Amino acid sequence: MVKMQEMKISSRNQVSVSRMALQHNFRCIRERVGEGVEVMAMVKGDGYGHGMLQSAVAFAEAGCRTFGVAELVEAVSLRQSGITGAIFVMLGFEPDEARLFFDYDLTPIVFCEQDIEALSGVAVQRGREIGVHLKVDCGMGRLGLLPAEVPGFVDRIVALPGISLAGIMAHFPEADNRNSVSSHTVFATYERLCHDLGERFQGIRHIANSGATLHFPEMTCDMVRAGIALYGYYPDGTRGPEGEQERRLMSAMTFTTQVIQLKDLPAGSGISYGHTFTTDRPTRIAALPVGYEDGYLRDLSNRGAVLIRGQRAPIRGRVCMNLCLVDVTDIAGVQAGDEVMLLGKQGSESITADEIAGWMQTISYEVLCLFGNNNSRTHTE
Ligand SMILES: *Cc1c(COP(=O)(O)O)cnc(C)c1O
Repeated sequence: MVKMQEMKISSRNQVSVSRMALQHNFRCIRERVGEGVEVMAMVKGDGYGHGMLQSAVAFAEAGCRTFGVAELVEAVSLRQSGITGAIFVMLGFEPDEARLFFDYDLTPIVFCEQDIEALSGVAVQRGREIGVHLKVDCGMGRLGLLPAEVPGFVDRIVALPGISLAGIMAHFPEADNRNSVSSHTVFATYERLCHDLGERFQGIRHIANSGATLHFPEMTCDMVRAGIALYGYYPDGTRGPEGEQERRLMSAMTFTTQVIQLKDLPAGSGISYGHTFTTDRPTRIAALPVGYEDGYLRDLSNRGAVLIRGQRAPIRGRVCMNLCLVDVTDIAGVQAGDEVMLLGKQGSESITADEIAGWMQTISYEVLCLFGNNNSRTHTE
């Protein structure tokens, strides 16, 4: 019997993540906030599509000691993979999971009685102490206690054995906008609340996301929680302020595919499902094996563009589940097998997650999660 050689086969759609860019961005934020302020790297959403563990390792190598995730299961996975330092769990836990915070030395963010009672119970059982961070809704209109509920809740923490108040956090709804008025009112509410606790609160304060870190340096407190900036994007969708060339954030993700077929069509030809595009001239169409299944959403139909041979090729007709079509009539020499840049730089042209977000009427965050979490990913230097 002939033994077939195992063949390594991979998708044509590939996301690549640059460790160098992640580390550059961490150092930029680190430098910006100064030595006295801790930087928590948010690695939820599988590291905003860049890989939770790989991103955490990259940030750790650049000096990061504090990480933030949404769910307990993510925190346990990070710890089991060897990440040291503090790991904050943003979205709570079931009472019977409280022991995991002790088993894996994780930091709970609490926002209800049940949380602190469960943690105190395990602490007493094990003869341990645990510091918790309290989540307050100071105007975000999302998760957390309302300011009026805080003093009573803090009394309860003080009264419970084995548990102490290590920090108080809040979140901004509009800090991505440097002119936002709400950022000032939210911050004032937060400051007043911490101040009014007086002696009862000696822990650390953190409220700034990437937007506040970049736009409101007076609001960085003891720690910032940076997400999107670490992956190379400015939360306001710009490429950042002018005149800061050396401190400019670098996008870490690229997304590529390749041409699988070329076809010359006469004027008047309908393209793809529903014929939402009809050629108005003899047109050379390239078929790409990427579609909404890969996070390359249908909203990109007749709106988006890709780079081939360093030039822009517009998407024609509907994006399908696994296919989309682009017009390469004006690009000389295109061949099947040519690399296609969906997100990233090719020659002197580039397509950013912000530009794609504009076509999809969303934000860079969603584009990065869609591409990164729906495709095979490789990590490069
Ligand atoms: C995701 C998140 C952040 C980070 O936000 P960016 O805008 O990506 O910097 C900070 N704090 C909390 C509570 C978050 O959920």
